[in-house]
Amino acid sequence: MSGVLHPDFRDRPYWWEGAPPEEEAPPPLPSRVDVAVVGAGYAGLATAVVLARAGRSVAVLDAGPAGGGASTRSVGMIGGRLRQGHAGLAATLGADSALALMRETAAAYRWFLGFVAGEGIDCDLRQSGRLIGAWTRRDAEGQKRLAEFLASKVGIAAHCLGPDRLDGEIATDLYRGAMVLPEDGGLDPARLHAGLLALARAAGARICARTPVLGVAEEAGAMRVTTAHGPIAAGDVVLATNAYTGPPFAWYRRRVIPVGSYMAATEPLPPGTLARLLPAGRLVNDTRRLAYAFRASPDGTRLLVGGRASARDHAGAATVAAGLHRAARTLFPDLAGVRMTHAWGGMVAFTVDRLPNIGARGRLHHVLGCNGSGVVMNTYLGARLGRRIAGLDHNEPPTGFARDGLPSHPLYRGRPWFMSPLSAWYGLRDRFDRLADRLN
Ligand SMILES: Cc1cc2nc3c(=O)[nH]c(=O)nc-3n(C[C@H](O)[C@H](O)[C@H](O)COP(=O)(O)OP(=O)(O)OC[C@H]3O[C@@H](n4cnc5c(N)ncnc54)[C@H](O)[C@@H]3O)c2cc1C
Repeated sequence: MSGVLHPDFRDRPYWWEGAPPEEEAPPPLPSRVDVAVVGAGYAGLATAVVLARAGRSVAVLDAGPAGGGASTRSVGMIGGRLRQGHAGLAATLGADSALALMRETAAAYRWFLGFVAGEGIDCDLRQSGRLIGAWTRRDAEGQKRLAEFLASKVGIAAHCLGPDRLDGEIATDLYRGAMVLPEDGGLDPARLHAGLLALARAAGARICARTPVLGVAEEAGAMRVTTAHGPIAAGDVVLATNAYTGPPFAWYRRRVIPVGSYMAATEPLPPGTLARLLPAGRLVNDTRRLAYAFRASPDGTRLLVGGRASARDHAGAATVAAGLHRAARTLFPDLAGVRMTHAWGGMVAFTVDRLPNIGARGRLHHVLGCNGSGVVMNTYLGARLGRRIAGLDHNEPPTGFARDGLPSHPLYRGRPWFMSPLSAWYGLRDRFDRLADRLN
């Protein structure tokens, strides 16, 4: 394993080299605010920007440094496709609501692109497109139907390529074909976070990092927020803690399932390598149950690899680097001798219905459940929640993600004991599917 690690190996996100988390001591806590937001990731900050611009006094409280959760740790892939397919959603919500959610997700992406451009957030956002590799021939057939559905019904540009047409896209023979989403793209997640943080501050929100919230209670029509540094009275509270939702929020904890996700960065590759491996400059993932993600760093020098490198939720950095190195050289055997300079993990939040959710119980509002893709959606839903609390949404069509009641499951009480065996099972199924594909 040690041959995989670069001598300067760092157990922290590559993104932090350009935009490290702030280390300042937290400012004094206000005694009273209109809205206290718990969680200073994209969701909490987007909510805070809207509320502070609408004239509300806002404190954003985070247990760690602002952005220390998932928001500065991701692959940075962006797009407008809901992860769930139409058939699955239609079975529970009905065909029309399912399609409406898919269209709202596509519209959220358009909103997000306009928001980042309009606010002048410098985060290396490029719509360079996404390629989703087909793991089996059956997956490739499914992709053809999906691309047709996305293009004709949802308004998302999509097309498929057979294995003989992948040359201009990716230098691998791993995939049986691929679907291309040319309008998707990538960004630097830590710089997006830094941009949102600056907007929230400029709007007047007070950012109180390293201030864990220990409890929230309603008392005589107001909310009392107990923090490690003292209490705050608030008119409303927003829970934007996603996968990091902890014991003070037991009701939510039983509804938001935290799952570990990992990334690693290679050392700078010889000039021209990435242009050869990924000639179209697209971000890549695939149809495996345990899907991997691959992209060039924004400066075009390194390969960044994401995926569930270990069945465990808190795997060590060296294990992560080794697991993702294996994934990289399976895709690009040429990279066998390359070393990893960074490896890190973070937590994503799944909901029982696999959909993000905004809502409220009394004056405690929430924006939770990224289901693996929250760069666009948690920013969008945070802003929607802010507009709702500020009463600015009267003339807007309601969001389909504000469904009453965040669903729970009788077998889930807040400890995801099933994730390790489930990951191992998914890994086995992927290997089995590939074997069956070869034998067919
Ligand atoms: C490895 C990895 C790869 C990913 N790749 C992608 C991708 O390519 N595309 C994509 O769209 N999404 C991706 N994601 C998901 C995306 O990063 C998240 O959906 C998004 O950042 C969630 O933002 P958030 O604001 O809801 O939560 P977070 O950024 O996780 O913020 C929650 C915050 O709440 C704070 N908190 C929790 N409890 C308390 C408390 N009691 N008191 C005070 N503060 C508290 C935490 O400290 C944390 O900072 C990835 C995530 C990971 C980990």
